[in-house]
Amino acid sequence: CVFWVSDIEISRAQTPKPVDQLAEEIGLLPEELEAYGRNKAKVQLSLLDRLHSQPDGNYVLVAGITPTPLGEGKSTVTIGLVQALSAHLKLNSFACLRQPSQGPTFGVKGGAAGGGYAQVIPMEEFNLHLTGDIHAITAANNLVAAAIDARMLHEATQSDKALFNRLVPTVNGVRTFSPIQISRLRRLGISKTEPTSLTPQEVSAFVRLDLDPSKITWQRVLDTNDRFLRKITVGQASTEKGQIRETGFDIAVASEIMAILALSDSLKDMKDRLAHMVVGTSRSGGPVTAEDLGVSGAVAVLMKDAIKPTLMQTLEGTPVFVHAGPFANIAHGNSSVLADKLALKLVGRDGFVVTEAGFGADIGMEKFFNIKCRASGLRPNVVVLVATVRALKMHGGGPNVSAGAPLPREYINENLSLVAGGCHSNLKKQIQIAHLFGVPVVVALNVFKTDTRAEIDLVCQIAKTCGASDAVPCHHWSQGGRGCLELAQAVKEATRRPSNFQFLYPTEMPIVEKIRTIAQKVYGANDMELSPEAKSKIDYYNQQGYGSLPICMAKTHLSLSHMADKKGAPTGFILPIRDIRASVGAGFIYPLVGTMSTMPGLPTRPCFYDIDLDPDTEEITGLF
Ligand code: ADP
Repeated sequence: CVFWVSDIEISRAQTPKPVDQLAEEIGLLPEELEAYGRNKAKVQLSLLDRLHSQPDGNYVLVAGITPTPLGEGKSTVTIGLVQALSAHLKLNSFACLRQPSQGPTFGVKGGAAGGGYAQVIPMEEFNLHLTGDIHAITAANNLVAAAIDARMLHEATQSDKALFNRLVPTVNGVRTFSPIQISRLRRLGISKTEPTSLTPQEVSAFVRLDLDPSKITWQRVLDTNDRFLRKITVGQASTEKGQIRETGFDIAVASEIMAILALSDSLKDMKDRLAHMVVGTSRSGGPVTAEDLGVSGAVAVLMKDAIKPTLMQTLEGTPVFVHAGPFANIAHGNSSVLADKLALKLVGRDGFVVTEAGFGADIGMEKFFNIKCRASGLRPNVVVLVATVRALKMHGGGPNVSAGAPLPREYINENLSLVAGGCHSNLKKQIQIAHLFGVPVVVALNVFKTDTRAEIDLVCQIAKTCGASDAVPCHHWSQGGRGCLELAQAVKEATRRPSNFQFLYPTEMPIVEKIRTIAQKVYGANDMELSPEAKSKIDYYNQQGYGSLPICMAKTHLSLSHMADKKGAPTGFILPIRDIRASVGAGFIYPLVGTMSTMPGLPTRPCFYDIDLDPDTEEITGLF
């Protein structure tokens, strides 16, 4: 019996193979690897050029039903599936996962390395700092924030001439523009390159970004659930000369730089996107970018290693790329385009890459298709939709449970009517959502020890009547890859079916109609409703030429609707759009639905209560 063994104990009991051995097994050259210790390494992007002519493997997306506090297990299924494909069916396979945020790791959910006998190892390295990408994102984001406030202070306290002399210093007796400044001059329509030839009006336009303090959209970020930073006031020291303004923090994984990391397909692409990030609006109404601030080159420098995916392995030695980690509710929720592209080349034509979209299919998968696939040009062959009996029971009308509370008997004893209720509501709706994109669906029922044979059979039978090409129970959590063989076979079979992929909306559709399409077709809303704030932002974004960007909804993951307590498949509601932001560098418009916050908080008893370190052995306990 394995049920009493913790995830971290299982992880620690397995010695990972050295990362250079893993790299050699999957066909990497030694010079393509940058080791970070013994167990993980970054992989150079030059690999994409070397494998350019290699055909891509099969592309599998793992998504889920609407999450409940009872857990679904998308990460464990992703890992169990690649373990089964690789170690048992002997097919080249790769998992692509997001790097966990320390927000959930120390907050409510815990880590994201999978669990039981389907994990990425070493799980403590995976769940904590990994190779520092989130720290790099935090540093890069906050450099931009510091640049904004410092620039506003300097513009408020200096003449045009003084600003010009400082921004364009003399080098060896000659004033010279830097390349980033020449680029700004071009955008202002000034073609001169000789600093002394600028007219006073041109000098003024060049040195004054003239940011409107009330229209700065850039926030500071931190990878901690620190709710007291949601709204703050900066500039209160007397040295800041009254430049006081209200701003706030977002969690780092919801930042635009995280989204850019996940969506870029080369260093050049990332650098361009970083330059185009809009941080606010000038008093005359024009967008101000990171490039205008002169900071985009430095930000690219901070991000230059983060763009390389990190290679790790599963408990059974299957390769895993860990890269980027946007949340799916307040960001786009998918690991990086680059990790998927590299993995697809490495596995080759008959191989499998299994990548995971966060939370329910209504958000993580919708954004995978409409945002990530649009950016990457990649098309998945099959969607694996993860469900559990206990979560289906809650969607079928079972009582609410808070995380960590004792399970009511409905979730321990057989209850076929609750299971059927959940299948006919949430599971059916999530299958239908995948079909909107024309991709075949295999339902993976992640089996818990309390599930009965009749409950398992019922889920699989209803899933098939709701249009799934197959539905199978998975025992990877207790048995590893061998417990996921049926799913591996079903996925292999499903990739032979035609996938008639299509986007849900064309990007040229007006912003309002794109939001309405997602609200009605995906969430099941009657309609959506824009706040006056959201309406005026849409007008502004249209004027600025951002109207044809795709949409990244920030919506609760706990319901198909905006009301977290409405389980199953709610209908008859109007989706409220409170506000809208634009992530121009990442390339999407970002509506905030209902009361959605971009900085989570901590519960009364967060996960950190159980996390500890033995100073003698350096062993970590309590991570899961
Ligand atoms: P998700 O990716 O959907 O958030 P995870 O795969 O990270 O979920 O799993 C969340 C937690 O649930 C992990 O701690 C994992 O060990 C546990 N878990 C997942 N599947 C099972 C299962 N079949 N039995 C018991 N615990 C499970």
